Amino acid sequence: MKAAAFNYARAASVDEAVQMLVRGGGGAKLLAGGQSLLPALNLRLMSLDLLVDITGIAALRGIRVEGGTLKIGAMTRHADLLTSPEIAAHAPLLAKAIAHVAHPAIRNRGTIGGNLAHADPASELPACMLALGATLVIQGPSGQRRVQAADFFLGLYQTALAPDEILIAIELPALASGERAFFHEYARRMGDYAIVGLAAQGKPAGDRIDALRLVYFGVGERAGSCPAAARILQQRHSPAILAEAQAALAADLQPQNDHQASAAMRLHLARTLLARCVNELLGRAEASA
Ligand SMILES: Cc1cc2nc3c(=O)[nH]c(=O)nc-3n(C[C@H](O)[C@H](O)[C@H](O)COP(=O)(O)OP(=O)(O)OC[C@H]3O[C@@H](n4cnc5c(N)ncnc54)[C@H](O)[C@@H]3O)c2cc1C
Repeated sequence: MKAAAFNYARAASVDEAVQMLVRGGGGAKLLAGGQSLLPALNLRLMSLDLLVDITGIAALRGIRVEGGTLKIGAMTRHADLLTSPEIAAHAPLLAKAIAHVAHPAIRNRGTIGGNLAHADPASELPACMLALGATLVIQGPSGQRRVQAADFFLGLYQTALAPDEILIAIELPALASGERAFFHEYARRMGDYAIVGLAAQGKPAGDRIDALRLVYFGVGERAGSCPAAARILQQRHSPAILAEAQAALAADLQPQNDHQASAAMRLHLARTLLARCVNELLGRAEASA
């Protein structure tokens, strides 16, 4: 199928793109890597009046470290994140996750900003943003605003972005001394969207993991943190504490039934991932789940 007819405009700057979105009055959409938008248009799952192309705005690309913060332009491609020494050194969680995002052809075009704005609940990147405590920098007609990742992802394909706003950058606190990252997902094939995945970061201290952040994806309508399980895991590690935290996932997660897996299967996989995560962060050989 082919997309229904629409107008096209190429923006030379963020200000110009915002003006185009304002003039589009809700019927305009941004084009980043096009890896989700173009299939949706071509399959006629959606239509629009105006496509605002932001691929030529060089200011939206790039990765840099300023003080203890990693700044990533929204139009930075997945492939750039995968090969970036700054991401490997300061955000190893993101480096691990990005290898699971789609396939090389898609990673060569897809962007971090497009991915986060799309807010697919099975995507790896929103979960990483939550686990890393990211700040999303947004520009609209009234200027810039900053939104914490926890307030950005609102639900299934829903974010805090207004129709006339552009996600321009992502800021991540650089990995602190002693912190470790864990990432793993279960998918049918490498590169597929996850059935269940876990992004986590914490600071092992003897038998405990301090400042542990656990974020599951592919489970429920958006990536979700697990306060009950994380609270239990603040205690000294033991098989009983791990079992208690695994049981608490039933309260933290709202797994769905779909064609890929039942809710019970998803909860089982989430518990298995939690055991892997705790053992890996503590530097132990994997125990039974
Ligand atoms: C076969 C296939 C497999 C895939 N597998 C995975 C996977 O395993 N994991 C995963 O995470 N992703 C996967 N993806 C998605 C891919 O990684 C892209 O990240 C994603 O499609 C969106 O990024 P994009 O740059 O292509 O955005 P686009 O498709 O251009 O845009 C997506 C949406 O975001 C809006 N948008 C884009 N940029 C901005 C911005 N800066 N500010 C505000 N709104 C914006 C657009 O208007 C549109 O509504 C897959 C895609 C395909 C086609």
